[in-house]
Amino acid sequence: MENVVAKFGGTSMGSAKAIQQVADILGKMPGAKTAVVSATSGTTDKLILLGETAATGGNWQEGIKVLVEKHEAILAELGVTVNLENLWKELKECCEEVQKKGELLTYMKDKISGFGERISSNILPEVLKKNGFKSVAVDSYELVFADNNFGEGNVDFEKTYKAIEEKLVPLLKSGVIPVVTGFIGQSETGEYITLGRGGSDYSGAIVAGALNSSELQIWTDVDGIFNFDPRNEPRAKVLPKLSFKEAAELAFFGAKVLHPKTIKPAIAKNIPVKILNTFNPSAPGTLITNEEEESIKSVTFKKNITIVNICSAGMLSAPGFMSKIFQIFAKAHIDVDVVSTSEVSVSVTVDNGEADKVIDQLSKFANVRVEKGMAIVCLVGAGIIHDKLALLDLFTAVQEHDVSMVSQGSSKRNITFLVKEAEVQEVVKKVFNKFFID
Ligand code: ADP
Ligand code: ASP
Ligand code: MG
Repeated sequence: MENVVAKFGGTSMGSAKAIQQVADILGKMPGAKTAVVSATSGTTDKLILLGETAATGGNWQEGIKVLVEKHEAILAELGVTVNLENLWKELKECCEEVQKKGELLTYMKDKISGFGERISSNILPEVLKKNGFKSVAVDSYELVFADNNFGEGNVDFEKTYKAIEEKLVPLLKSGVIPVVTGFIGQSETGEYITLGRGGSDYSGAIVAGALNSSELQIWTDVDGIFNFDPRNEPRAKVLPKLSFKEAAELAFFGAKVLHPKTIKPAIAKNIPVKILNTFNPSAPGTLITNEEEESIKSVTFKKNITIVNICSAGMLSAPGFMSKIFQIFAKAHIDVDVVSTSEVSVSVTVDNGEADKVIDQLSKFANVRVEKGMAIVCLVGAGIIHDKLALLDLFTAVQEHDVSMVSQGSSKRNITFLVKEAEVQEVVKKVFNKFFID
């Protein structure tokens, strides 16, 4: 029997009309289905701002008022009543605590950021019930267990999968549609924790993995994964199919349509992932499976990148040197995106703001030079590295620009390089034109 997990993003939950559309999509879906939802669009950003405002003694009360009014207007238009009083009260108490402390501690930032999902997941079941279905909200605090790495919790899969199975399977068996809060879980010490910005996709994949779902559907506001961000390029085209590995590369190197960790639980259980459009549900979307066709699929980019050049003549080939460097990054919980090495230096890229956390330690044994304001450009597609013509085309297209750290991902499905952030729009347009238009 079909057993689908359907994740609905911020725009899909962003208005009464959109939520009604989500309920219609779920209503028409055959078999067992579990919904995983994001906060209404813009709400997570507003919540974070609320926490920051409270920390500096600003008028957070006004911020809460705006959020209450936004959600009440949605409820009124949907014609359903949901008692959100306790959640608003809890949010107010959090802000009072932050104001008293005068700082927004990471655990509190996570708790405050997660209210959007806790609220939206209480709204959808009422709409489903109004449409004649059985449905209940399930808080991921009871389903997803992580460590204490606030801001991007690392999931304890064993405990999480057991909890999801125990709580959701009986509901599904009795024909109920569980509506699960995306983005959040419970930390080791029993606090609310988030899985990183955009993390509801990952929540969807975790739930699908636990339930051995027949398909994970990511419902968003575009027709699928495109060969370039469709908001940036009207000539971009939907890709009907991608492999897990290609999709992972695209997500990792900046295509916002999918959270980078989403593919992992799906690969582990070989669960097909479909990217679909809530506002155009009959479009076929993009299907992601482990099948792979050799061709160039998409170009993507990631801004706000810093290059850290670590130079230590003679040391680089010494045993343990590389591992010493990477341990420093790992201990500071910094993700490294691109790495390139030479005889005397190693260069790594990190998000802006992250380099400062490790410069002092690295400087103890190496010369460190930092280049801010960079961007990663990534061309993705199976077979790309054997395609000599593709390489020629790529570097002909960008010949007028300074390109550095050219590297071929270890997955052999991408070519990445760094350019100045100020030039990245121009560079990716040239690459897009060369590969997908010319
Ligand atoms: P959601 O709120 O549904 O999770 P997101 O805003 O996180 O949606 O992701 C969808 C957005 O991703 C699209 O609106 C689009 O602008 C952007 N995007 C970036 N690169 C791509 C791409 N290659 N294909 C499709 N969408 C992309
Ligand atoms: N609401 C969260 C965010 O804005 C998670 C998500 O939408 O996936 O980051
Ligand atoms: Mg998203």
